[in-house]
Amino acid sequence: LSTAFRLLLPRQIYTALLEQARAELPNESCGLLAGRIDGAVGQVERCYPLVNQLASPKEYESEDRGLFNASKDMRQLGIDLLAVYHSHPTSEPVPSRRDLERNYYGSGIIHLIVSLATSGPPLRAWRLSADSFAEAEWEMCEETDEPPRPAG
Ligand SMILES: [Zn+2]
Repeated sequence: LSTAFRLLLPRQIYTALLEQARAELPNESCGLLAGRIDGAVGQVERCYPLVNQLASPKEYESEDRGLFNASKDMRQLGIDLLAVYHSHPTSEPVPSRRDLERNYYGSGIIHLIVSLATSGPPLRAWRLSADSFAEAEWEMCEETDEPPRPAG
């Protein structure tokens, strides 16, 4: 897998991420995005909203059952985990120190953060390492009705 793919996010999923963030106020929302990597592009195809079992406005931890069901579905569809997302109800869409400490996925995937309290874009993408982060590229795309292409 490429470690520097650009994330293509269907508008419908972008809207769903913002709606989920609002619906779960005052707490942080979280979930996974999966799809296919083709060259330098990661096309998101599925969104898996997860339960924040900490039910906290300051941190999140995805519930195991939801994670398990999402990975099972990805395996069945033959798609890969491309990104994890969570919301910041009262702060900028920038990784917190806790986000870096709890980055279990390494830098191979993208971290999206949705902010409900920013004057800038409500969604930003990042690649995290243990003690630093860098902005990642993403863009919105329109939904297509094309059947999924075979993997590989
Ligand atoms: Zn965070």
